Amino acid sequence: MATESKVGSDAVGAVPLLDLKPQFAEIRDEVMAAVERVFESQHFILGPEGAALEREVAAYVGAEQAVGCASGSDALLLAFMALDVKAGDEIVTTPYTFFATAGSIARLGAKPVFVDIDPATYNIDASQIEPRITWRTKAICPVHLYGQAADMPGVREAADLHGVPIVEDAAQAIGAELDGRRAGVLGHMACFSFYPTKNLGGAGDGGMVTTDDVELAEKLRMLRDHGMRPKYHYRLIGMNSRLDELQAAVLRVKLARLEAWHARRGEAADRYRKLFAGAGLLERVSLPETAPGRRHVYNQFVVRVGDGHRDALRDHLREQGVGTEVYYPVPLHLQDCFRSLGHKEGDFPESERAARETLALPIYPDLTEAMQQAVVERIARYFETR
Ligand SMILES: *Cc1c(COP(=O)(O)O)cnc(C)c1O
Repeated sequence: MATESKVGSDAVGAVPLLDLKPQFAEIRDEVMAAVERVFESQHFILGPEGAALEREVAAYVGAEQAVGCASGSDALLLAFMALDVKAGDEIVTTPYTFFATAGSIARLGAKPVFVDIDPATYNIDASQIEPRITWRTKAICPVHLYGQAADMPGVREAADLHGVPIVEDAAQAIGAELDGRRAGVLGHMACFSFYPTKNLGGAGDGGMVTTDDVELAEKLRMLRDHGMRPKYHYRLIGMNSRLDELQAAVLRVKLARLEAWHARRGEAADRYRKLFAGAGLLERVSLPETAPGRRHVYNQFVVRVGDGHRDALRDHLREQGVGTEVYYPVPLHLQDCFRSLGHKEGDFPESERAARETLALPIYPDLTEAMQQAVVERIARYFETR
């Protein structure tokens, strides 16, 4: 075992943050056949592939309904539109997330009301939600960041006290579980992204909303198609946001393998844990914590590096050919575009600290043990001299 784990880490060259080419090699024939099927049909919008993917994703997450759309950002926008969110309304969410979570709220003229994160999971600190709810609050939008479900019992407690619906931002968390239930059925609606870097990534943009509420699903179907029902009669002012047939056909090939890929991501995460412990790095680098009852699907493997070392370590790893990323360097309450919200540094200290200290390391189903050894050895080399 010891000899096996010594194999080839010096022979490893660059380790990219993400490499989708081996995945394509694995599924090439099926993807090409799916693409050909769509071209032969010449049916590109709202056809059988999209309908089949909706059924398959609904079954996968355990939801009654799924409605495809053009992106994860649009999934959020459509979900909020389905709740009639409008100017002056408020939605409680976290400032430590991808821009689209709050961007889609602001696009409707509503106000993102931020709540700080739990430093252990980087997800919304549910204990701080309740005091931020007002008569204007139209929804709570927890984000299952990096592939781990938020504290949904805590979120639900605050939501139920005030009768406020929950919209999950599950863009990074397809397949994530909490007490055996999957992201997608942990609130009233859930929003998924099929951006290529997500665990289920398409050949372009795509998104989906899941819900158990048949009426909401009907409204979402109308809203993604200009609010039309029946043809050329408009009941609502919707948008053009459909998931096209080419994307759906490719995503169906990938969905069939998603569980196997999740398992490999989980194995890679376990290997990192062993390698970091073996290298004596746990004092320097805090590894992701999995909260009780969760299945983490590791869309990202994000470590925390304190004492001002994060950026220097990142530079060192770049020189050593290891790809990393900072998700996210500026929390949303400090972004220029949200200046009018009147926030200042210090308002959400855990989000600000996470923005200074976190670093995403390479993780994907085809990441090899030798590559992970190389990543950990190169991190160890950085700390040898400090
Ligand atoms: C990727 C992502 C989105 C947006 O998805 P797109 O498909 O890129 O529009 C929204 N929220 C979070 C947390 C994301 O990671």
